[in-house]
Amino acid sequence: MKFTFVTLFSNIVEGYFNDSILKRAIEKNLLSITYLDPREFSNNKHSKVDDTAVGGGAGMVMNPQPLFDALDSLRKQDEDVHIVFLTPVAKQFKQNDAKRLAKKTHIAFVSGRYEGIDERVLEKYADEVYSIGDYILTGGELPSLVMCDAISRNVLGVLGNAESLKIESFENELLEAPSFSKPTSFNEIDVPKEYIKGNHSKIRTLKKSLSECKTKFFRPEQFIKHSL
Ligand code: SAM
Repeated sequence: MKFTFVTLFSNIVEGYFNDSILKRAIEKNLLSITYLDPREFSNNKHSKVDDTAVGGGAGMVMNPQPLFDALDSLRKQDEDVHIVFLTPVAKQFKQNDAKRLAKKTHIAFVSGRYEGIDERVLEKYADEVYSIGDYILTGGELPSLVMCDAISRNVLGVLGNAESLKIESFENELLEAPSFSKPTSFNEIDVPKEYIKGNHSKIRTLKKSLSECKTKFFRPEQFIKHSL
């Protein structure tokens, strides 16, 4: 699966792929990452990519021309590229979106900066538009990485043990039960006794009720949905 980051600041993004699971996935050719800098497409003699807002308002807005040309060139290279814009006002990205998007062959994330992107760019090129939450960040690079990471986990072969995907929180209505590692007693705090005894049916039953408690505490609305 290929990801293209359309960004003025690729160096913010690059470092994330230098370690751990996503680095290994790239080495195994399960993922590939490329970057496209709108500044390289600017017709302005100083390579400017932003200007003041038409109609007034604070701050600068990203010009349409560099992005139109950058995204045209991307579509020309790959007509199947799925173009996703990041903006705080869109619907929130969820686990189900990550699973669905993991079936695409090529996703491009378009990051805004300053006060955002000229709306005409979104109208022409957006296949989908997402927010990662109700707060304002300085740019779309972190939201792009958040989406890329969540999608990549659902690409076959990226996780060593695909079974772990099935029991994770948000796969089902209940959140995942608490996890513990060794030693079973640490600083005089023990893991639940049932976890150690090895009776898998009893462990399953306990985990289910702990999942219910956790969901009730952290996500009461989701618990009500589950109870219905
Ligand atoms: N003026 C815009 C508004 O009030 O809706 C905010 C622009 S923000 C400072 C600059 C860029 O950061 C956006 O164009 C978007 O790409 C990105 N961004 C900021 N917060 C985000 C969020 N919560 N989810 C997704 N993208 C976000």
